[in-house]
Amino acid sequence: MSFPGEWIPEKAPFWLSREQRGFLEEIRVLARSELAPLQNEEAGVNRPLLAALGRSGLLARLFPESTWEGKEGARISAMALCLLREGLAMECGQAELLLALQGLGAYPILQSGTVDCIREWIPKVARGEAVAAFALSEPGSGSDPAALQLRAEEVPGGWRLFGEKWWISNAPEADVYTVFARTDPEAGAKGVSAFVVPGDSDGLTGEHTEMLAPHPIGRLFFDGVFVPKEKLLGEVNRGFRVAMRTLDLFRPSVGAFAVGIAQRALDIALAWAREREAFGKKIGSFQAIGAKLADMHTGTHAARLLVYAAASAFDGGVESNTANAASAKLFATENAQRVVDDAIQILGARALVHDHPLAHLYLDVRAPRIYEGTSEIQREILSRALQ
Ligand SMILES: Cc1cc2nc3c(=O)[nH]c(=O)nc-3n(C[C@H](O)[C@H](O)[C@H](O)COP(=O)(O)OP(=O)(O)OC[C@H]3O[C@@H](n4cnc5c(N)ncnc54)[C@H](O)[C@@H]3O)c2cc1C
Repeated sequence: MSFPGEWIPEKAPFWLSREQRGFLEEIRVLARSELAPLQNEEAGVNRPLLAALGRSGLLARLFPESTWEGKEGARISAMALCLLREGLAMECGQAELLLALQGLGAYPILQSGTVDCIREWIPKVARGEAVAAFALSEPGSGSDPAALQLRAEEVPGGWRLFGEKWWISNAPEADVYTVFARTDPEAGAKGVSAFVVPGDSDGLTGEHTEMLAPHPIGRLFFDGVFVPKEKLLGEVNRGFRVAMRTLDLFRPSVGAFAVGIAQRALDIALAWAREREAFGKKIGSFQAIGAKLADMHTGTHAARLLVYAAASAFDGGVESNTANAASAKLFATENAQRVVDDAIQILGARALVHDHPLAHLYLDVRAPRIYEGTSEIQREILSRALQ
């Protein structure tokens, strides 16, 4: 089995072109040579790696220069985003995470901010000089963000924010946050607005939360943080739209990240199955191991097809792409968990040594089944779309 040569049938409506395959390979080579050596195990944001991601030109793919001046509709294509995330996930998980978080944090500004706001933040985010974050979740609202409580009180010239956010990737170190806050206490999802909040704002404090897998994440406390009216994203009480525009673009790409992880685990397992001997035979010749490899390949291949189908439908302007994106995210993240677990089984004890790549993947693969909509929420979305 080779990658990326053979996996998408030429007749599929969304096969990868020669350019796209070349792009994927370019990402892998760059990530292996320039980014992977800068990975670390520290809890905070790896700024040297982010700067290298900026220098490599990969962040600039996420924020093409046409976006820096606030040109209407300018964005990366969902296909290119998936290729970026899959390629990085295979070679350098931490760079993948940094890239995805820059996108999640800054796309609301790009898609709904004023031209001045875009000019202020997007070039710095695209160069890896400013760290962005997307602050939606709170201690009392995760899967149900319409229940969020962070309060925005209208004051002369803008708003003041009071309350708390939790599970915010890149917090508390981010330079800029997209913050979702309640502007109408009675209106549920229709009473939420989105704001741009610089990380050094008066009244904004925070703390790290240590996770099982190294992940820069934390809690934010807002004590009357002032947000001028020009820093509102979109319209008052239409903040959910701002969040959904970004999440719709990014959701299939969480699946692409999971595909990258699964492919990496499969490659490692295959190499070992061909090399390792037991009872005088290569372990790959045992049916039990061969069947695992076959299932790992099939699951990953299917996940890849779902992911790129959802991305190409999004780029093609398919109106209701929610179910496609939900299937892709659900299947790819669940598959990646199984594939990494099976790969560890095939390698045996050595996969559990502290620094083994599969030990890292085992930790990294768990969170995507929870963030950007848990697997249960994706099933809810699908169930509603089907009935
Ligand atoms: C590593 C990581 C990074 C994150 N980064 C960010 C970030 O940058 N920004 C941000 O805003 N948030 C972030 N989050 C938060 C994430 O989006 C939430 O954790 C997620 O939405 C789930 O919310 P919760 O953890 O509060 O679980 P809950 O919503 O409390 O859910 C608990 C359980 O109940 C289930 N459940 C809830 N509702 C339903 C339902 N209707 N039907 C069936 N089952 C249901 C869930 O699936 C889950 O199994 C991050 C989380 C993690 C783990």
